[in-house]
Amino acid sequence: MRPPVNFCQVCGHALVDRMAYGQMRRVCPECNYIHFSDPKVAAVVFIERENHVLLVRRRVNPERGKWALPAGYIDDGEDPRSAARREVAEETGLDVKITRLLDVQAGSPDSGASIVIIYAAQALSGTAQAHDDVDGVLWYAAGDPLPELAFDSTRTMLDAWITRPRDSAAPE
Ligand SMILES: [Zn+2]
Repeated sequence: MRPPVNFCQVCGHALVDRMAYGQMRRVCPECNYIHFSDPKVAAVVFIERENHVLLVRRRVNPERGKWALPAGYIDDGEDPRSAARREVAEETGLDVKITRLLDVQAGSPDSGASIVIIYAAQALSGTAQAHDDVDGVLWYAAGDPLPELAFDSTRTMLDAWITRPRDSAAPE
């Protein structure tokens, strides 16, 4: 859960609850600033290589110690594909090329993201190593026991990939 917003970011006055644009929102009675609680959006990256998929172990909460696809928040104004490439580089050191959009899903409440954009990517160079907010990397092979996974989106994508026809390249 994100902390409540109590003060106007324009003038500093205490905010109040008021109907605005169809629902109760935090509104400034002094300058009429309306606080919109915008969705947090994450880019998730599905990197497949020779029948393996790259997973990372999270060093931070939420879901510390569990495994997930490389992912991170998209900054305001950042191209989602750039965010995807940046997160992979930060977490694993790999330089990747985004090949296509796989899915857009509602984030689970425990993930911290309201919306997740999932891309397929191809590793161009580098060796996957744990960096940043990651303390382990794993090229997971379909059929191996799954490690403990962090997020619903990770599980959904891996399930689809594991059960896919073997001649397709990535989950549909
Ligand atoms: Zn104000």
